[in-house]
Amino acid sequence: MSIVGNLLQIRSTLPTQVTLIAVSKTKPNELILEAYASGQKDFGENYVQELCDKYEQLPKDIRWHFIGHLQSNKVKNIAPFVYLIHGVDSFKLLKEINKEAKKNNRTINCLLQLFITNEKTKFGLSFEEADAILTSDELKQLTNVSIKGFMAMASNTDNEDQIRSEFRSVKTFATKYPQLSVLSYGMSSDRNIAIEEGSTMIRVGSSIFGERNYTK
Ligand SMILES: *Cc1c(COP(=O)(O)O)cnc(C)c1O
Repeated sequence: MSIVGNLLQIRSTLPTQVTLIAVSKTKPNELILEAYASGQKDFGENYVQELCDKYEQLPKDIRWHFIGHLQSNKVKNIAPFVYLIHGVDSFKLLKEINKEAKKNNRTINCLLQLFITNEKTKFGLSFEEADAILTSDELKQLTNVSIKGFMAMASNTDNEDQIRSEFRSVKTFATKYPQLSVLSYGMSSDRNIAIEEGSTMIRVGSSIFGERNYTK
């Protein structure tokens, strides 16, 4: 199927509260423009340089989501334009985002990334660490960041029950913070489970653009 066909198919299954982010990492501008022409405005990238290049080259009304692991020293590159940073996993990073947002005279929207698997390689905060950030006095001084909700990735497994219970743990945790209503979980393979478990943002790459030829 075509990119537009894929998008239409996915959109037709989405409840209204769910935003579809087209994950365009490693994909060329022509393909992004095809998706854009069909009305897709939210795109996700996970490498800073690639995101900056695409921002320069593509329409300015695209909402760019940074979904990768962000290093503090790279925040300045995306601070002028990024729409939502999904993977905030430390107070240090939040402070850096605040500093760069201030320099750019804007507020940057962020999600706290939660660690919900037992895999060693994934980034994120424990629920306790997220609580500590959200209840700290220091957070009140960060006037140029706005925490909107949470992001998470489930285990890379075929076990649907496990994926479901991992997503559910985020939803349950988030009920403590009703004002933080954005829940970013679900990718190509597990998006339907994610939606059933309360996701409000799915990040879908290969089901739209096809398999990536290489992983960076
Ligand atoms: C690559 C990526 C996705 C999309 O993955 P697909 O399996 O291609 O849908 C979603 N979220 C993050 C954080 C990613 O890095």
